[in-house]
Amino acid sequence: MNEPAATSLLAARTGAAALPSVDRLLGLAFIPALLDEFGRVAVSGVIRALLDDKRRAIVDGATPEGVWPPGVEWLEGELRARLESQSAPRLRCVFNLTGTVLHTNLGRALLPEEAVHAVASAMRSAVNLEYHLDGGGRGERDELVEGWLCELTGAESATVVNNNAAAMLISLNTLALGKQVIVSRGELIEIGGAFRLPDIMARANVKLVEVGTTNRTHRHDYEQAIGAKTALIAKVHASNYTIQGFTAAVDEHELVALAHRHSVPLMADLGSGALVDLEDYGLPKEPMPRESIERGVDLVTFSGDKLLGGPQAGIVVGRKDLIARIRKNPLKRALRVDKLTLAALEAVLRLYRNPEQVAQRLTTLRLLTRKQPEIRAVALRLLDPMSRAFEGLATVELRECQSQIGSGALPVDLLASAALVLTPSAKTRGTGVALKKLEQRLRDLPIPVLGRINEGALWLDLRCLEDEEGFVGQLGMQLK
Ligand SMILES: *Cc1c(COP(=O)(O)O)cnc(C)c1O
Repeated sequence: MNEPAATSLLAARTGAAALPSVDRLLGLAFIPALLDEFGRVAVSGVIRALLDDKRRAIVDGATPEGVWPPGVEWLEGELRARLESQSAPRLRCVFNLTGTVLHTNLGRALLPEEAVHAVASAMRSAVNLEYHLDGGGRGERDELVEGWLCELTGAESATVVNNNAAAMLISLNTLALGKQVIVSRGELIEIGGAFRLPDIMARANVKLVEVGTTNRTHRHDYEQAIGAKTALIAKVHASNYTIQGFTAAVDEHELVALAHRHSVPLMADLGSGALVDLEDYGLPKEPMPRESIERGVDLVTFSGDKLLGGPQAGIVVGRKDLIARIRKNPLKRALRVDKLTLAALEAVLRLYRNPEQVAQRLTTLRLLTRKQPEIRAVALRLLDPMSRAFEGLATVELRECQSQIGSGALPVDLLASAALVLTPSAKTRGTGVALKKLEQRLRDLPIPVLGRINEGALWLDLRCLEDEEGFVGQLGMQLK
């Protein structure tokens, strides 16, 4: 272990053969500390990878002395850097300054502290997940949130599964297995990635009966399609697009009457589903589960991590007998949520019981209702530290912009916001490259910063920035 630091580890041989062996390097004095921290497999792995890199460089024409300096400090630094980067967590916190509040690729809703605490305690402890503390009998995990959900939606019963796609899958499969489900052609949607309604229906083993046309569907279209094999009528909220111009659709009122006249249940997928009337908060209207239930819709499905502002979950509310059948479906076991999701969901639902406070305490609603002057004030505070941090690289200016709600909600309604706009200093040629570099530079920060590119500049919409200190701190700057 008495390695003379200034001595080269290179052997007196030519080419790559001069490089030391793995075992020789494993015997160096600094190695035991690395072994303690990262384990033998990882340490030998990075030593081997480093030797491979150097060998390749020598084969490509470098000299052994050129790729392998004397001393061991560089070697220790190099190995530690490789080990740290390998073992760093892959799931990272980022600043979402894209201007899309509910960004599916960035994990949708941010949860309030109440939910964070509830999840942390449920993680550390055994909980009454399926156990009645009153009487000691076996319980059903849905019961933990069913009361809250019924109170907030006016439904008789509720169940929770992995996400809204799962909520639709299990509802369709339970109510219409091997039978027909009627859907308007204007509502056969694809929602990003692999979610297409006709595919979900096929996997649920129900037969899709399309009615109407893309832009117009009438009551008689549904009426003509209803027959002995009809098990369900489904209405799907066209969440990520709008049909404008010469259009017609049958509203929920009419569909309820029609379905019930034929003794067929009606299911409505709301996608986002708002538990409060967003218009009361100055936001564009979004369908509410409560309204669908009041109109007599038998089952309503919606997501937990969209406008509701909770964890990823799919919620089904509606008739008690239908929910009971869903719970008995063997798929429920495959699609059920865990204690952490229920802990977070319950904490969020409890916030809704105080409507005066919910817009402040529920993170999603707080971000969505943030007013432009407040966001402008954030931008003004950041303008100077940002300009200094990017001096010589980009100019920074304050501009008005519009945020999107995201996750399929309200595709045409935008929210007035403010942004810092970074334009690469190297103006003329190569702006595209300069812009990409700038973007990467922001992504390389300890907490990566994600914006959006527009008009040859990088826009950082500040609607979702609440930790201003943390933001400028990692740029090596301070707020005034
Ligand atoms: C988002 C959405 C879904 C899918 O919900 P997930 O929770 O992402 O599974 C289904 N239907 C509509 C209308 C949606 O907007």
